[in-house]
Amino acid sequence: MKFMKTLIEKIDRHQMDEAVLAKAGEILKNGGLVAFPTETVYGLGANALDENAAMKTYAAKGRPSDNPLIIHIADVEDLPIVARNISDKAKQIIERFWPGPLTLIFEKQYIVPFGTTGGLSTVAVRMPTDEIAKAVIRAGGGYISAPSANTSGRPSPTSAQHVADDFDGKIDMIIDGGNVDIGLESTILDMTVEPPMILRPGAITREMLEEVVGEVTVDVTLLVEDSGEAPKAPGMKYRHYAPKAELIIVEGETDDVIKAIRQIAYEQTRLGLKVGIIATSETESFYSNGIVKNIGTRNNENSIAKNLYRVLREFDEDDVSYIYSESFESGGIGDAIMNRLNKAAGHRVIQATDITDLQKYRRVLFVSQSDNCRGPMAAEILRNESLNQEYVIGSRGMVVLFPEPANQKAEAIMRSRQMTLAEHEATQLCEADLDEDTLVLTFEEAQKWKIVSHYENVKHVYTLGEYIDDERVVESSHGQPLQVYGERFELLRELIQKLAERLNEEAKNI
Ligand code: AMP
Ligand code: MG
Repeated sequence: MKFMKTLIEKIDRHQMDEAVLAKAGEILKNGGLVAFPTETVYGLGANALDENAAMKTYAAKGRPSDNPLIIHIADVEDLPIVARNISDKAKQIIERFWPGPLTLIFEKQYIVPFGTTGGLSTVAVRMPTDEIAKAVIRAGGGYISAPSANTSGRPSPTSAQHVADDFDGKIDMIIDGGNVDIGLESTILDMTVEPPMILRPGAITREMLEEVVGEVTVDVTLLVEDSGEAPKAPGMKYRHYAPKAELIIVEGETDDVIKAIRQIAYEQTRLGLKVGIIATSETESFYSNGIVKNIGTRNNENSIAKNLYRVLREFDEDDVSYIYSESFESGGIGDAIMNRLNKAAGHRVIQATDITDLQKYRRVLFVSQSDNCRGPMAAEILRNESLNQEYVIGSRGMVVLFPEPANQKAEAIMRSRQMTLAEHEATQLCEADLDEDTLVLTFEEAQKWKIVSHYENVKHVYTLGEYIDDERVVESSHGQPLQVYGERFELLRELIQKLAERLNEEAKNI
C-alpha cells in the first residue's frame, strides 16, 4: 500500500476539540479512514454507505471481503435508515442495552452497499457509548463502519499506540482517546432469527439478554469445537487475535495449571527457548521461569478482558516462541474471554493433569543429623545437575536447635568446586515436609527408621543408597580433617549424579 501521512490527534473525552472532530468528519465524508476509540476496542472508521470506503477498509486491514463490517450509529433514530424489520424484541433490547457493547443483526436497507455487508442481505449495527466515538460518527455523516482497527488476524487494539503499530502510514487519521474501557469486541446478536442468536460473545451476556427478552440461543460453533458447521458470523471462521508466538491454553484446576506451566516453562527454558506465561495477580508469583505477564485479577474478570489484547501484543515484542496461558472461569464475561483466547490459540489446549500426572515428586529433601554438612551439600550438588523436571530441592536436620550456617569445612570444599552453601541455614525436619509430593532421602538407615516411626502417614522416605541402588554410605565427616571432607564430597557427588539419572529416568515422558 502507498505510504501516506497519518494524522495522530489526542482528544480529551470531557472537552473534545471541535477542530479535530471536524477534520475527522471531513476525511470520513471524503471516503477516508479514521481510527477512533470505542468502549470495546479501537475501530477503523469509514463511511458505511460508500462502497469505495469499504474497499479501502478491507485493503488496509488485509481483511477477507466476505467478512462484513459493523455500522456504527450515534442516535437510535438513525437505525431504520440502514435496518429493516426492527421487531418489538429488538426495540426492548435496544431500550435496555444501547448505547453499549452490543451489535444487532437486521435485514439491511437498500441504501447499505453490499461492499459493507460482505455481500449479505443483512446488516450489523451498533451504537457505542463512548462520547468520542459518537462525536466522530456524527461528524462523519452518521453511518460509520468500524471494524477493529488492527491488521486482520492480529490482536484487536485497545490503545491508540496499538492502532499506530498496525496502521501508521496506511490510514488518514488516528484519534487517540487513551485506553479503552472493556477491551473485547461487542456481543453480536442476530435479530433476524427467532429466538435471537448470539454469534459472538461479549460484555453483554446471554443471561443479561434473556432477562429482557426470554430465550436467546448461542451459535453452536461457539459451544462445540468441531460442530462441522460454519459460524453464522462470517468473521468468526478466521484465525483471530493471534500473537506471533504459538499460544497454548492450559486447562484445569488453578493449582494443577500452575504446576503444569511451571514444568513446561522449566523444560523449555532449559532447551534455550523463550517462553511467555499469561498469569494473574493471584498466580504470577508462582512462576520462576519464562516471561510472566499479569493479565488481571481472578476476582474481577473485567480486568482480564481489558488487558488480554495488550498482553498478547506485548509478547510479540518480547519475541517469545511459545506462550502458555492459564484458563479462566466460564460465565459472564469469562465466556467472551475464553472465546477470544481460544481463537488466538487456534484451539490449542492442553490439560494440566496430563503433565502433572507424570510428575511423581515435586520436591527433594535430604535429611541428615544436623543439616549443616552432608544434607546441604547434596542439595546444592543436585541443584547443579541437569534435571528433566523442575524440583524444589532442600535439606533438613533430624535435630536442629539453631538456624546455623553450613559447616566451614564443607563450605571450603564446595567453594573449591565452584559451589557455595553461603545462603544455607539449618532447618529442623517437620511433619509438613513429608507430604505426597516430596521425596525424602536420608544418609543412614537409622535416620530413615526414626522418621518412619516418629511420623504418621510417611510416604516417600528412603536412604539415598536404597533409592539409587548403591551400597556405599556417605558418613558424617564431623571432626575429621579437611581431606576427609574432600573425599566424602567426591563420593557424594557420584551418588547424586546417579540420583539425577534416576530422577530423569522417572521424568522421561514429560
Ligand atoms: P469486527 O468488525 O472486527 O468487530 O468484526 C465484525 C464481526 O461482525 C465479524 O465477525 C463479522 O462476521 C460480524 N458481522 C458483521 N455483519 C454481519 C452480518 N450481517 N451477519 C453476521 N455477522 C456479521
Ligand atoms: Mg476484528
